[in-house]
Amino acid sequence: MKTRAEKVGDEYVINGSKMWITNGSVADVSVVWAKTEEGIRGFLVEKGTEGFTTSEIKKKLSMRSSITSELSFDEVVVPRSNMLPKAEGLRAPLMCLDEARYGISWGAVGAAMACYEAALDYAKERIQFGRPIAAYQLTQRKLVKMLNEITKAQLLSLRLGRMRDEGKSSYREVSLAKMNNASEALKIAREARSILGANGISLEYPVIRHMNNLESVYTYEGTNEIHTLILGQEITGIKSFE
Ligand SMILES: Cc1cc2nc3c(=O)[nH]c(=O)nc-3n(C[C@H](O)[C@H](O)[C@H](O)COP(=O)(O)OP(=O)(O)OC[C@H]3O[C@@H](n4cnc5c(N)ncnc54)[C@H](O)[C@@H]3O)c2cc1C
Repeated sequence: MKTRAEKVGDEYVINGSKMWITNGSVADVSVVWAKTEEGIRGFLVEKGTEGFTTSEIKKKLSMRSSITSELSFDEVVVPRSNMLPKAEGLRAPLMCLDEARYGISWGAVGAAMACYEAALDYAKERIQFGRPIAAYQLTQRKLVKMLNEITKAQLLSLRLGRMRDEGKSSYREVSLAKMNNASEALKIAREARSILGANGISLEYPVIRHMNNLESVYTYEGTNEIHTLILGQEITGIKSFE
C-alpha cells in the first residue's frame, strides 16, 4: 500500500493512487485505505473533492459490463470525521475482503455451472460421425470431471457458509474456498469451451463470457498465488512473502 494520509491539524491530506477499482468513477463516495502515522486507516472521500480524480480503465476483455477505474489523490483534504472509527490496521480492510471472497467462492461455482450446463446441452445436440459428441467417452469424461469439481466446490462453500454462521471460519478457510473455486471454475469454463468447438468462442453461447470473466475472478480478491502462499504459511508456519 503506497497511498498515504498525513494528519494536518484536524484534517487528513491524502496522496497516492488506486488501480482497478470497481465502480470507482461512478461512486459518489469511495472508501480509501491509506497509511497514516497510526497505521492503516480507512477514509471516506466524496466525489468532487478537490484533488480527487478518476478515470475509466478501457480495453478490458473481462468483466466488460462493470466499470473499472483508476483513482488519483493529489493533496486531497478530508476532515477527521471522514476517517472510519474503530477500523484500525490491516485487519479492517482484510475483514471486508473475507466477506467478499466468501461470496466470490459461490459466484465462481455459478459461472462453472452455467458453463457445464451449456456444454452438456451442446454435447447432446451436436452430431459428429453420426452420433452426438456426448456419446463419445472423451466428452463424457470431460462432463463428469466438471460435475465432480462443481460438486466439490459447492460443498466447500456450503461448509464455509455454515462455519461463518457459527462464527467459526477464518481467513484460512476463505482462502481455500476462493482459491479452489475460482481456479476450478476457470478450468471448467475452458473445458466447456472445448466441447463447444468453434462455437465456444462465440458470444452466442455463454461460455467464453464466463471464461473471460473468470480470468478476473482468478486474479481479484487475492490472486490464486497469494491464497496459495497464505495456506502454505498456515501449513508450514513459514512465511514466504512480505
Ligand atoms: C476487473 C477487476 C476489478 C477489480 N476491482 C477491484 C476493486 O474494486 N478494489 C480493489 O482494491 N482491487 C480491485 N481489483 C484489483 C485486484 O485485486 C488486483 O489486480 C490483484 O490483487 C492483483 O494485483 P496486481 O494486478 O497488482 O498484480 P500483481 O500483484 O502485480 O501480481 C502479478 C502476478 O504476480 C503474482 N505475485 C505477486 N506477488 C507474488 C509473490 N510474492 N509470490 C508469487 N507470486 C506473486 C500474482 O499472484 C500475479 O500472478 C480488480 C481487478 C480486476 C481485474
